[in-house]
Amino acid sequence: MKISQAVGNVCTIFTSHTQQQKTEDSSDGKIIYLKDIACAIKSQVALSAFTSYKVGGAAEWYVAPDNLEALQGSLEYAKEQKLPITILGAGSNLLVSDHGLPGLVISTRHLRHSHFDPQTGQLTVGAGESIPSLAWEAAKLGWQGLEWAVGIPGTVGGAVVMNAGAHNSCIADMLVSARVLSPDGTLETLTHPQIGYGYRTSSLQTSESPTDKGYQRIVTQATFQLQPGTDPAQVLAATKQHKKHRLTTQPYNFPSCGSVFRNPTPYAAGWLIEQTGLKGYQIGKAQVALLHANFIVNRGGAKASDIFSLIRYIQQQVKERWSICLQPEVKMIGEFQTAG
Ligand SMILES: Cc1cc2nc3c(=O)[nH]c(=O)nc-3n(C[C@H](O)[C@H](O)[C@H](O)COP(=O)(O)OP(=O)(O)OC[C@H]3O[C@@H](n4cnc5c(N)ncnc54)[C@H](O)[C@@H]3O)c2cc1C
Repeated sequence: MKISQAVGNVCTIFTSHTQQQKTEDSSDGKIIYLKDIACAIKSQVALSAFTSYKVGGAAEWYVAPDNLEALQGSLEYAKEQKLPITILGAGSNLLVSDHGLPGLVISTRHLRHSHFDPQTGQLTVGAGESIPSLAWEAAKLGWQGLEWAVGIPGTVGGAVVMNAGAHNSCIADMLVSARVLSPDGTLETLTHPQIGYGYRTSSLQTSESPTDKGYQRIVTQATFQLQPGTDPAQVLAATKQHKKHRLTTQPYNFPSCGSVFRNPTPYAAGWLIEQTGLKGYQIGKAQVALLHANFIVNRGGAKASDIFSLIRYIQQQVKERWSICLQPEVKMIGEFQTAG
């Protein structure tokens, strides 16, 4: 059964095909309409609107394709123009620099479709589908397997790349395969072992090195193995329980990126930060959350540079006290100034 197909399209005003490439000036920048592609590339788009931290400067160029053809066309354009590429899901694990990002930012949020196959118990979904929405949909159908993911406010693509996880489960536990578009335009299906999963990592992640940009592979779709056939009331109750637990233990009332640091086994990063006396510590409008010390929250009007400085400060303080180097889980992209 099909439960959703290409819903929500911010590109609606750009969706007519054009016979040849053309550029238009608008009040807030340029719009490039690619030949035969029903989605336009816009200049100087504020990324603060597309990140959960609500910070970040503008993308030099921004596109949100709603189908594979438009995605391939956008990639082709970036290649021709020698633009570096950044892939954006829901922006819930990103700290984007106040100076913005050069090149083309490709948002996957409109690559949306989902198919629950009752024969196999497999769920095949587009990269832009929201993980919490899928968790609720699966629960309503009585399919077990995604209850744990209801509090992760990302897309399918971001979750596959980050190996998102919670409550002792993670994406790697259920991923069957992912369809991936390479920078050279090749589309291939990678199976679970080919993705090389580890704790919050996968071989699909790139480093923050600018030389890696343009070589990022793009997840376009993923297939998950779930377990159909349970009473929906039972799966809904478990999903609600997970959501409730998150709301009481994590600060969902301020913009954040979730956990800032990976847990350095056997310690929890939040515990180390709390024991270092940093709960509530603030730089500008960025604050170590009072409810959970591994969260940095934007108390309203924070700059990316405030959050970045706080990340560095926490690392330095924890290193001094515990001789442990906390590794960020959040991806910091663009230019940041290191003090000293
Ligand atoms: C309140 C809150 C709670 C959170 N709780 C959790 C939690 O419990 N567990 C957890 O693991 N995470 C958690 N997170 C972090 C975040 O939601 C996850 O890491 C999520 O998987 C990121 O998905 P995204 O779509 O937002 O990716 P983004 O943040 O947009 O991108 C993350 C990285 O993935 C890349 N990427 C995104 N989509 C694609 C794609 N289609 N193809 C290739 N590369 C891609 C980006 O380039 C970037 O490098 C939380 C975040 C918030 C704000």
